[in-house]
Amino acid sequence: MQFTVHLFTGLLLGLIIFYFVRKRHLVVICAFGSVLPDLGDKTFWVLSSSGWISAGMINLHSFQFLLLSVSIAAAGWIIFRTHAFAVLSAGIALHHLLDRMWLQPRVWFETPVWPPSISLPADYPLRVLRSEFGSPRGLLLIIAAAVILLLLYGSSIRRAIRSARRYF
Ligand SMILES: [Zn+2]
Repeated sequence: MQFTVHLFTGLLLGLIIFYFVRKRHLVVICAFGSVLPDLGDKTFWVLSSSGWISAGMINLHSFQFLLLSVSIAAAGWIIFRTHAFAVLSAGIALHHLLDRMWLQPRVWFETPVWPPSISLPADYPLRVLRSEFGSPRGLLLIIAAAVILLLLYGSSIRRAIRSARRYF
């Protein structure tokens, strides 16, 4: 699933949570959770293909990582009484759901041996950027995500700009 789809669906889930909890920052945390597996794994792939780290050191698309995030969410609630970790975990679970990870049990349940040997083309980061943001759907979803964030944080941004003007 495309990064932009994960971002947009994470924002939508965050808005649903916002409707009940009324804390704006949870929308951003949920969106971050929904892109975290791709952000982490694709970054690791790029680093491993360039020889910085060995491939398969981490797999944020694994069931173990999902369980770890749920455990951290439970501990965060018990210790700090915060929704933040639960919302982050919900975003991660949404990512796993949209990637339909249960259809790839080898990837979902085997860690940290995946990817065992992944060979990426030299221009992999550029290809990812082109495929994610070069399509009309990707651009549309980025614009929609920006509109949602502007609607949520517009007043805060205006306030920050107003207070910054005082110093110039
Ligand atoms: Zn993914």
